[in-house]
Amino acid sequence: MTTTTDLVSYEDALASYDPVMGLEVHVELGTKTKMFCGCSTELGAEPNSQTCPVCLGMPGALPVVNATGVESAVRIGLALNCSIAEWCRFARKNYFYPDMPKNFQTSQYDEPIAFDGYLDVQLEDGETFRVEIERAHMEEDTGKSTHVGGATGRIHGASHSLLDYNRAGIPLIEIVTKPIVGAGERAPEVAKAYVRELREVIRALGVSEARMEMGQMRCDVNLSLMPKGAEKFGTRSETKNVNSLRSVERAARFEIMRHAAVLSSGGTIIQETRHFHEDTGSTTSGRVKEEAEDYRYFPEPDLVPVAPAREWVEEIRAALPELPLVRRTRLLADWGISATEMQAILNAGALDPIVATIEAGADAASARKWWMGELARSANESGTSLDELAITPQQVARVTELVTKGDLNDKLARQVIEGVLAGEGTPDEVVDKRGLKVVSDDSALGTAVDEAIAGNPGIADKIRGGKVAAAGALVGAVMKATRGQADAARVKELILERLGVSES
Ligand code: ADP
Ligand code: MG
Ligand code: ZN
Repeated sequence: MTTTTDLVSYEDALASYDPVMGLEVHVELGTKTKMFCGCSTELGAEPNSQTCPVCLGMPGALPVVNATGVESAVRIGLALNCSIAEWCRFARKNYFYPDMPKNFQTSQYDEPIAFDGYLDVQLEDGETFRVEIERAHMEEDTGKSTHVGGATGRIHGASHSLLDYNRAGIPLIEIVTKPIVGAGERAPEVAKAYVRELREVIRALGVSEARMEMGQMRCDVNLSLMPKGAEKFGTRSETKNVNSLRSVERAARFEIMRHAAVLSSGGTIIQETRHFHEDTGSTTSGRVKEEAEDYRYFPEPDLVPVAPAREWVEEIRAALPELPLVRRTRLLADWGISATEMQAILNAGALDPIVATIEAGADAASARKWWMGELARSANESGTSLDELAITPQQVARVTELVTKGDLNDKLARQVIEGVLAGEGTPDEVVDKRGLKVVSDDSALGTAVDEAIAGNPGIADKIRGGKVAAAGALVGAVMKATRGQADAARVKELILERLGVSES
């Protein structure tokens, strides 16, 4: 099915309208058990093997709140500078869907556990933008439907659907922003930066791995336009379940161009959900949006209210880890690098490996060099992330140590890393097995130096005549003859010595 959508160019859209955005992010918590029962949350199990009467919605089954889930919600709330409710309840959000056997989702409605916070996010140029947080609340995930027999995997055209309830009841935290105004043309960039920063915060807190590609974190992008200078918000569309940082940015951008086309031709935007398509970067219409009343929210009678004690909240606050923006700002100063370099490190997923390598004894510059150079290239080629490479920060630190000691030069170090990545063992084992070692011992180098001089009489003459720069060619010949293992600086000294020339 192809539908064409009228668009206005991004520049034209921004010339006439101000975008307003709202981001709703769902994070699947990494708790061992589900939110309201003791079923395992382990991924990859046989369908429907991790279920019980509670998460299957059997009559009479009674839910119990997962304490770790509540603690994670409080941690997230505090990290997002929110107030933590002194008392709050769960609520039933009533609707029918086959992947939700209770016919309601246990969520929170007007009494979220955390509210009124903010998250400062950093844009590509290093500038900071504050995104206000409306609330963060606890809820549960639904099961998973697989639609079989159709061409698209969507329900339309499918012959039947399979249901797996292993995911039903996995704890979710939904984090909702206040309307984001004033970002102008940078709105899509702000959306992406916000989701990225939120992901870093979640990971730093250790409450979820927040892998978007695995659905552990997904974002709904609400967007509307209002005529430039206006104060009353326009009608929003809500693009659901966007699951990569790049897609968040593209979805916001596309919706700006689409809304502008509708509005500037005198049309009206209908409040609806939309689907984002990775392949085309476009969105298509989903369903007309329910109003909150349609869900008949009411307080969950089977669960006790949650009333986090103030002392407990303060204990959690005191134990929060250093948050990512603070940490990055500190490291940036320590390492003396620019915001752009830091951004590149973040984009490559290299920050944690670099820090771990430094903790294992490497100097900051070398750690950055290897992770952002050789190792990033290698990860790129194999289509994996840096943390999936078959080398540990400790091993990278060991390689830098061998370089510092003069046992390896850069070229040999690269071969050692290549060997470790290929599964040949630890750096020391690769050095042994491959026989990689800088040769700086004069007697071992002497023959190679003599041969290089004898084999290149023309160059040797030039050097004798005072053209010291020409020595590079002879050094090259020696390096080649020794398969890169010679100590280049010592080789140069030997050549000049042999030819009776001094360096300056
Ligand atoms: P719903 O459950 O209907 O999606 P929520 O209140 O949970 O409603 O989320 C709506 C999101 O959209 C919030 O982030 C809110 O700030 C944002 N929002 C509300 N009104 C607008 C608007 N007119 N344009 C853009 N975003 C909006
Ligand atoms: Mg929503
Ligand atoms: Zn269960």
